[in-house]
Amino acid sequence: MATPTATVTNRRLVLLPLPLQGHLNPMLQLANILHSKRFSITILHTRFNSPNPTNYPHFNFVSIPDDGEEKLLISDIGNLLRLFNYINTSLVDPFRECLERLMSEDDGVACLITDAQWYSTQSVADDLKVPRIVHRTSNISSFRAFSRIRILREMDLIRRFSDQEMKSEELVPGLEPLKVKDLPKFLTMEAEGVCKVLELIVHGSKRARAIIWNTFRELEDRELEALNQDFPNPHFLIGPFHKYFSASSSSLLVQDQTSLSWLDKHPPNSVLYVSFGSIVKVEESQFLEIAWGLANSKQRFLWVVRPGSIEGSEWIEALPDGFLKNIVEGRGYIVKWAPQQDVLAHPATSSFWTHSGWNSTLESICEGVPMICSPSFGDQLPNARYVSEVWKIGVTLENWFERGEIESAIKRVMVEEEGLEIRNRIMNIKGIVNLCLKEGGSSYSSLEDLVNYILSF
Ligand code: UDP
Repeated sequence: MATPTATVTNRRLVLLPLPLQGHLNPMLQLANILHSKRFSITILHTRFNSPNPTNYPHFNFVSIPDDGEEKLLISDIGNLLRLFNYINTSLVDPFRECLERLMSEDDGVACLITDAQWYSTQSVADDLKVPRIVHRTSNISSFRAFSRIRILREMDLIRRFSDQEMKSEELVPGLEPLKVKDLPKFLTMEAEGVCKVLELIVHGSKRARAIIWNTFRELEDRELEALNQDFPNPHFLIGPFHKYFSASSSSLLVQDQTSLSWLDKHPPNSVLYVSFGSIVKVEESQFLEIAWGLANSKQRFLWVVRPGSIEGSEWIEALPDGFLKNIVEGRGYIVKWAPQQDVLAHPATSSFWTHSGWNSTLESICEGVPMICSPSFGDQLPNARYVSEVWKIGVTLENWFERGEIESAIKRVMVEEEGLEIRNRIMNIKGIVNLCLKEGGSSYSSLEDLVNYILSF
């Protein structure tokens, strides 16, 4: 894919990713994009979930020393409140020392680019007089919901997170088409904790010099306009990042390449790809409903079951005996982790049953693969609402732990007329993606602007 004309610079950028798969991938892709613009890249990272430096010999890697507590975080990685608090309190001083050291080196630091979740780095950057740019790994539509958290709280919508009203169909004023039930909620977080952390993230993003988005203007033009009213910082929409460089080298788990050889054996547009990302967990009974829904749909499927993603199970031992061979009769294949972008680009892949993480959604859009959305928490809920009601490139399966509903959602997208209409719409957006990355396209131009903006510091 074309990138804007290379600029002569060796100025050093320091990039600080959040140590989660869905955040590491886009940040390392962004690093590659900026490296292709002749910036020198230093990745500052935590010791846990650290990227593999051997996959990036052209970058410099610096590890932030920790106090040993990080080990606990690995075993409880879904506890996002704890993770955010940890990196923004215990790791602030070690981060500052690392940054000061890098600044004292000959290369200096032209600019710090951090994941928005590292909100505390803004004060350090201000103290050390280093420009900080925020990288948002979510899209603009969901960020708008995050950014209005204080107002929503005052309207008494957020307090209701802990109530049954979390299921409310009521539209959120100013954020339509989002409903109260789509508002950000997080696994293992209580309402107060969510609000406080989101406010800090939003505040830290507002104070940053600029925000870089892994999205493209044509998809979120209206939302960008609305966001601009509250966030006057420059916004650079340069996505989809992974269309410049593949993400496979930043995978924390081994990607099972037999996924592709299995797909090779099947006709075009015939396989449902099923994956719920790197964090979502389900209970054993829910896992079995998913299995029976897939089996009863009689469609072919490639299913990623991440080890540890089923409560109380190592992997798939809870499946009925002979599930793949006798019940599914060879129509299904299960792997622990897949080369997702290659799977979505494979001609045999027809549809994607997803948890609606933003990377997965964007990867599906780029390959023109219709989605069945089963969101659980965070930005997944707004993402699913936009996929099914605004862009109309998928359907939302709300009750995704009930085999009958699963079967009927799969048939809607893979067999019925509705699926064809969805496919036409997403193929149209795929065409727009290709154009926006070409010379003169929106993302191409925005990347040029970003490079010039950084060079102006
Ligand atoms: N992914 C992958 N193999 C898999 C499942 C997911 O490589 O079997 C990648 C996927 O391509 C995406 C990332 O993991 O880039 C998941 O990010 P997303 O934002 O979709 O969800 P999260 O894991 O953060 O919930």
